[in-house]
Amino acid sequence: MFSMVTGFQNYSQRAIRAARYTGQGFVVTLDHLNRLPMTIQYPYEKPIPSERFRGRIHFEFDKCIACEVCVRVCPINSPVVDWELKKSIRKKRLKSYSIDFGVCIFCGNCVEYCPTNCLSMTEEYELSTYDRHESNYDQIASGRLPLSVSQDSTIQTVPSSSYLSKGVMEGHPNSRNATHAAD
Ligand code: SF4
Ligand code: SF4
Repeated sequence: MFSMVTGFQNYSQRAIRAARYTGQGFVVTLDHLNRLPMTIQYPYEKPIPSERFRGRIHFEFDKCIACEVCVRVCPINSPVVDWELKKSIRKKRLKSYSIDFGVCIFCGNCVEYCPTNCLSMTEEYELSTYDRHESNYDQIASGRLPLSVSQDSTIQTVPSSSYLSKGVMEGHPNSRNATHAAD
């Protein structure tokens, strides 16, 4: 008899605990129902990168003095600087310059230490390719001016802060509208 009562007590305690956990789960679910979506409808919507975003590096051939500081400060020696010595003027002449964005970690060291400021980080982040060799940008590819998300009229832009700020809770209105439209 005593063991039956103990067994019933244990069963009741476990049932109460399970109900409490279920209730807690529902509270979390209800809390999320009240939030805006965190996702955006890429590629129809794109976030506007922040001012200090570290995207594809822009290179200015004419400014480069082939000092190779960028190579020395790069943690993976990514930039390849090809130059020749012009003995008549006792100066290096840059022949070619390339950065492999397939291995670059966008740390910004090369940009930071370049003495002539011929490197700068852009807001370009769509660098995926089908062939990894295409990620190796020569001076022509890296000298191309960056595409600005905000100037592309075919897509809807989403300020990055609007879906990340405020405790990462509120989402952004654009994606809610898009989701509702899809419904
Ligand atoms: S640090 Fe700047 S100037 Fe020197 S080789 Fe690199 S890109 Fe050219
Ligand atoms: S951003 Fe960093 S990893 Fe990429 S090339 Fe410059 S120094 Fe190297």
